[in-house]
Amino acid sequence: MSYTILYGSYEDPILGLGMLLILIFALILYVVVKRRTLRANALAAKGEGDSQFRSLAEAIPLIVWTAGTDGLTNYINQRWYEMTGTAKGECLGNSWAEFVHPDDLAVCWQKWNDCIHSGETFEIEYRLRDKDNRYRWFINRAVPLRDASGAIKQWFGSCTDIDDQMRNQQVLEEQIKERTGELFDANTKLKEEMLEKDLARKQLDQQNEQMMRDLTERSTRATVLARMGEVLQSCVSQEEILKAAVGFAPKIFSSSGALALLQQGEHLEVASSWSNCLIPFPSFDRGDCWALRTGHSHFVPAGDDTARCVHAEGVKNSYVCIPIVAQGETLGILHFQGNANHPQLRESDLSLKNTFAGQIGLSIANIRLREALRSQSIIDALTGLFNRRYLEEILEREVRRASRSEQPVGVMMLDLDHFKNFNDTYGHEAGDAVLREAAAFLKRSVRAEDIVCRYGGEEFVIILPLADANATQGRAERIRSKLQELVVLHEGKSVGSVSVSVGVAALPVHGESSKALLEAADAALYRAKREGRDRVVMAELAAPRREECAALQEKA
Ligand code: GH3
Ligand code: MG
Ligand code: MG
Repeated sequence: MSYTILYGSYEDPILGLGMLLILIFALILYVVVKRRTLRANALAAKGEGDSQFRSLAEAIPLIVWTAGTDGLTNYINQRWYEMTGTAKGECLGNSWAEFVHPDDLAVCWQKWNDCIHSGETFEIEYRLRDKDNRYRWFINRAVPLRDASGAIKQWFGSCTDIDDQMRNQQVLEEQIKERTGELFDANTKLKEEMLEKDLARKQLDQQNEQMMRDLTERSTRATVLARMGEVLQSCVSQEEILKAAVGFAPKIFSSSGALALLQQGEHLEVASSWSNCLIPFPSFDRGDCWALRTGHSHFVPAGDDTARCVHAEGVKNSYVCIPIVAQGETLGILHFQGNANHPQLRESDLSLKNTFAGQIGLSIANIRLREALRSQSIIDALTGLFNRRYLEEILEREVRRASRSEQPVGVMMLDLDHFKNFNDTYGHEAGDAVLREAAAFLKRSVRAEDIVCRYGGEEFVIILPLADANATQGRAERIRSKLQELVVLHEGKSVGSVSVSVGVAALPVHGESSKALLEAADAALYRAKREGRDRVVMAELAAPRREECAALQEKA
């Protein structure tokens, strides 16, 4: 149809065909020329572009490079050569790799190859060796240049020197690391301190609790000790004191213990013990105890063999011996011993134990003092006999007791005859000697239960419990006759013999009170003196008795 159309313009078909061919040729020629022109323009433009790019690349203060799609570098700017100290064109292809730090090279290659194939942006931080053989940090970034179809034509890359930045960063990281370390250390230290403080607080709490327990225990013990003090003060004999002390000891001390008392001489006997105290030797010598040797308490910890007391041989637990001293005189020892529940004695308890022993000693000293005072008030100093005060007290008691049981009590009143002569002839001291000897004689001449008293001057009274008038008279007679045999020596010389006049009276026949009895005996003595001395005279019957006798005689 086109032929028809073409032909439609020319009547001669050959001419028409020729024209057509000319047209086609012209068209082809135009196309070829046009394409060549375009290519030439493009090449010119490209050359101009490359030149511009390179001018630009040489002007900027970075390393700039380009690579082909095969990854081989085909251009690197002057900065590279300056930095590496190489000649221009030396490092194309892959030879740049020899400047990469051996530690970074493998990663760098891997990444570059990956990017060449994937077309992703290439970015890596690595170290490059400079002309002074020092490695510096760079960041290398490359992007692909693509054509209109999206295919990669070329890679454009740049290397930026980040060495200062990296070093700063490293310094910063080291500082951070250092600070972190310091913080960690500080934190650890703080934790340790807190733990220590916590531990110290717990220990303090425990110590406080222990202290409170100790204080309570001490206070309880002190209360018991004070109570014991009261009891000891009220004791009337040494035996009572020791018994009370041994009773209180286990209430105050958790340890076992024993009390050993000095007997005659240097020998001790264990008098009592408490809480199953182990006593290897119930009797031992004074020298067997270190406390008695040294005069103060002797503490022996368990297992310490330095100075063990012989009497505590075999005692495995700790023990302490404390002397009991009264008025400077050692009476014995208190021995405290650890037991199964409390094997170790607490040294802190030692002062309490010393106080305990001291209190016992003090109480015994008090008793002794009291006894001494009492004996001083009832004993006549010259003769050692009871004095008049005691006589009246004891006679009163004996009369009451005998009256209750309707028993007799005999009384004799004795007066040495012409005693004044001894004083006058041999002196007052000789008179004293006579009084002492006569008193000793009287004591020897009566039973243990009879009571001999010095009534005054050279007068004596003897109370004879359960003795009636006749028995008393009989005894008086023997005394009178025996006394004559008494030889009193003064300064080695005899002062002659002594005679005595005696008045005898008895309860109830001669009086029913102590006063009446003494008066009756005194009256009888007076009669004995009057009748010539050296004799025994029985008292006259008391008035009611006289009436009874008279009535009986009348009946008879
Ligand atoms: P009589 O036979 O009448 O009892 O005569 P007497 O000399 O024993 O009695 P008198 O009352 O005349 O004298 C008692 C003397 O005893 C007087 C006094 O100096 C003396 N005398 C009293 N107490 C003591 C004393 O403690 N020691 C001495 N040496 N003499 C004493
Ligand atoms: Mg006389
Ligand atoms: Mg007289």
